[in-house]
Amino acid sequence: MAVRVTRRDFLNGMAVGVGASLIAPGELLAQVDPTLATSAVSSSYYPPTLTGMRGSHPGSFEVAHALAWGGQKPAEYKALDEHYDLVVVGAGISGLAAAWFYRKKMGPDARILMLDNHDDFGGHAKRNEFHHGGRMVLGLGGAQNLEMPDYYSLIAAGLLADLGIDTDAMGANIADDFAMANMESNNALALPGKDGHVTVGGNWLLSMHGMGDYKGMVRALPVAADEQDKLIALFGGDKDYLDDLSLGDKYDYVTTVSYSRFLVDRVGLVADTLPMLDAILRIGNGFTGWNHSVLEGIAGGAPGLRGMGWVGGMVHSLAASAASSYEVCYFADGNASVARLLVHKLIPAVAPEASGFDDIATSRFRYAALDRDYSATRLRLNSTVVGVRQFDDVNVEVDYVQDGNALRVTGKHCILACYNGLIPHLCPELPDRQKEALRYGVKVPLVYANVLLDNGRAFSKLGANLVTCPIDPFTMLSSAPPTTTGGYEPPRGPDDPMVILMMASPTPEPTGDESVRDLLRIGRHKIYATSFDTYEQQVRDQLQSLLGQHGFDHETDIRAITVNRWPHGYAYWYMALDDPEWPEGQAPHEIGRAQFGRISIANSDSEARAYMDAAIEAGWRAVTEQTLRS
Ligand SMILES: Cc1cc2nc3c(=O)[nH]c(=O)nc-3n(C[C@H](O)[C@H](O)[C@H](O)COP(=O)(O)OP(=O)(O)OC[C@H]3O[C@@H](n4cnc5c(N)ncnc54)[C@H](O)[C@@H]3O)c2cc1C
Repeated sequence: MAVRVTRRDFLNGMAVGVGASLIAPGELLAQVDPTLATSAVSSSYYPPTLTGMRGSHPGSFEVAHALAWGGQKPAEYKALDEHYDLVVVGAGISGLAAAWFYRKKMGPDARILMLDNHDDFGGHAKRNEFHHGGRMVLGLGGAQNLEMPDYYSLIAAGLLADLGIDTDAMGANIADDFAMANMESNNALALPGKDGHVTVGGNWLLSMHGMGDYKGMVRALPVAADEQDKLIALFGGDKDYLDDLSLGDKYDYVTTVSYSRFLVDRVGLVADTLPMLDAILRIGNGFTGWNHSVLEGIAGGAPGLRGMGWVGGMVHSLAASAASSYEVCYFADGNASVARLLVHKLIPAVAPEASGFDDIATSRFRYAALDRDYSATRLRLNSTVVGVRQFDDVNVEVDYVQDGNALRVTGKHCILACYNGLIPHLCPELPDRQKEALRYGVKVPLVYANVLLDNGRAFSKLGANLVTCPIDPFTMLSSAPPTTTGGYEPPRGPDDPMVILMMASPTPEPTGDESVRDLLRIGRHKIYATSFDTYEQQVRDQLQSLLGQHGFDHETDIRAITVNRWPHGYAYWYMALDDPEWPEGQAPHEIGRAQFGRISIANSDSEARAYMDAAIEAGWRAVTEQTLRS
């Protein structure tokens, strides 16, 4: 009999989220009882172990959607007897960093409240924690790693130092064969075949750049021989595909023509082959080669640089040497450990016995300690902010809905570390030009499923712990990060339970004249319209086809599935084919983040850069703005 994935998660998610999540938005607001006080959290509340639909989980988005889609919010609020020095909206990395910077500057007695609509803190930096066979197995629910931390600004690097994060140790603690951190390590390509997937071993991501036995890898692919010839020529740089163009025209071409158009028109590939080459773009950036310029596609890791004549050859050598210094650092639960370290610094009572970096992975947090009136810093979950306004020279009112209750707190300052797109609804008093700028970007939707397996025997037979599956619903599969950082003990071998991370991008290819922002909106709606059952079926089908030939049986081997859906994922950054070159200081994110009296704007959206260091820097900027005034 199949070990079905339970809906405990789903039900628990409802219980710890707003109890009204099955109610239509209008009904939900009609129920608000302004006399109720804030709700307490029980000692068993521990969202990292919830499975099923996570990320933007049921209960987290309904209130915000009622506001953004229908302009609905409660008419009355219960004013709590709570006044803070700083109220932060959003407890992702940016909001947490802002709270930390503020506290560092203003001292430990500064009264800070963080509000977040999710049932867990961290924003995209979420932890998935499984327990099976007497072991704890961790997975990352969103933001993965510290990318090139040596290049972080002094602000972002300083925060890592405050948290005791040792990136050298992190580099040493991760298994060498973890391909998401080590480009030299094996990573395979798998295509559906009539008896299950055909997996081609080797190093696909480097083969695409003409390295290693790229010809052998291509010849093993189940694609037509003449298509293989074209791939070999492309990867090896046998041909200059732009040889009819002058140097200047080449530059124009690579910055104004889409990467996919280049593959079809210049390389002569058929449409069916393109997903093999742009899979890395779909997962890395969130959309296909049709929405990247040639230059952006190649910069994102897709092949073709060597086919640009001598310029390409030269740049390729430079890129190869730069790649050798490329460094990413992983915690076992991704950047959730950074969020946890921040929360632990701000509210030590969540884990009084924890020391910090050395045992962060294994520390179980007491969520009941997050929001206690004896603590100067408080973090309140399941709380969606619906209105923020400065009501006199020195005070800001913040309205929010928690568990169906409409509540109000006040603060001397407010930092909006939430989504740019929602801010015009929270602060309708902002200037029209600023509101328009805030609405410009569309966040990039992504889905990360973590699948707990009874053991890793079948997966280990693939000979690579990263597999590109270009034709499947989940485009890339990897083991969860096998690292000992933070005191974690990763699976000791194939007999131990393991977690497979399965990554998907819902954003479709353009069918006509849609801009990338139109497509991102379609991708976002697709996420909301896809049920957990559908994802579960996709996971089972894909894993069975990939691993069945190695003895895998999805009915017995899959022990839990957590689908982390991020309809509002990466911050939007500007793309050459869609966005103009804005004059200095006039890009939408720069106009949008202007300080508005006692309200400042943080979040990675305000930097137009979907990275942790951007989120941290945004938090710093917002705190600096607010602390320059009394
Ligand atoms: C799948 C995925 C993978 C990623 N991988 C990486 C990576 O490997 N490395 C990297 O550097 N970056 C990565 N990122 C980028 C990531 O977004 C940033 O690194 C960073 O975590 C963003 O933090 P933030 O605080 O700016 O935003 P968020 O993490 O989005 O936090 C904002 C919080 O505010 C909440 N909020 C919004 N509106 C309201 C409201 N009205 N009331 C209350 N709360 C509200 C949100 O729900 C959220 O919890 C990834 C992102 C995604 C989605």
